Amino acid sequence: MHIKMLELMETKAKFLVTDASPEKVNALRRALMLDVPKMAIDDVEFHLGSSVDAEGNEYESISPVFDEIVAHRLGLVPIPTDLELFGYRDQCSCGGEGCPSCTIYYSLEKRGPCEVYSGDLSSLNGEIYRPKDELIPIVRLGERQGILAYAIAELGTGRKHAKWQATHGVGYKYYPTVTIDHSKCDNGGTCIKACPKHVMAFKDQKVQVVDNDACVLCEDCVKACRTGAITVKWSENKFIFEFETDGSLSAKVALAKALESLENTFDDFREKVASLEG
Ligand code: SF4
Ligand SMILES: [Zn+2]
Repeated sequence: MHIKMLELMETKAKFLVTDASPEKVNALRRALMLDVPKMAIDDVEFHLGSSVDAEGNEYESISPVFDEIVAHRLGLVPIPTDLELFGYRDQCSCGGEGCPSCTIYYSLEKRGPCEVYSGDLSSLNGEIYRPKDELIPIVRLGERQGILAYAIAELGTGRKHAKWQATHGVGYKYYPTVTIDHSKCDNGGTCIKACPKHVMAFKDQKVQVVDNDACVLCEDCVKACRTGAITVKWSENKFIFEFETDGSLSAKVALAKALESLENTFDDFREKVASLEG
């Protein structure tokens, strides 16, 4: 299996996979979704009772939604993750007590009326762990309502809960090849109108394939073509693969981790098979 990067952005990657099979690319898809670790808030402690601000105004520690809903929303906020630094809490040298190598501590304090956003989370480990996406709504506080909570983020994977899934929109398609037989084509342009992905266009007064990779193999162009000039084929061992991350990790790191996890899984499998043969 070979990978050739077509587009690499901070949180998005598109690449070509060759010498592969649907089983292999699907294994990569599953590894990206389930085996790439990231930090996520897993524990939230709410301050109960009333609080008083500097002007002497009293606020009730209450919001229009249950604490569980607020905790759930905090769990889904993408937390900046440094996989070189953080390890799993239950395997950490601190014995799971929580330390800067396995845990990020946050506080959240706001008084209404106002909106509470992900950007209101303040990290006790340092400003670099402040959520990059600052405008994820958490809750709207009314008059005299306040929230004071402490949250703990730790490392996990999508196998345990979706909040630890770093990648989204993970998918692939067979590599398409769209060809136009110009000896048959009447340049009427019906295929251009039929194609949902703008694969064909007029160029030098002829219908030409201008974006082959965008083809989704729907064959609408083949049905629309009056002269049978279009052929759409796909390769059984070549795929276009795409995914995004939620921002907690870069796409490059997520892909490297998924490939590392696949390699470890196959090594493990090989060893088990070898022990059976022995
Ligand atoms: S198969 Fe569908 S997406 Fe591909 S070129 Fe034809 S109409 Fe466009
Ligand atoms: Zn620790």
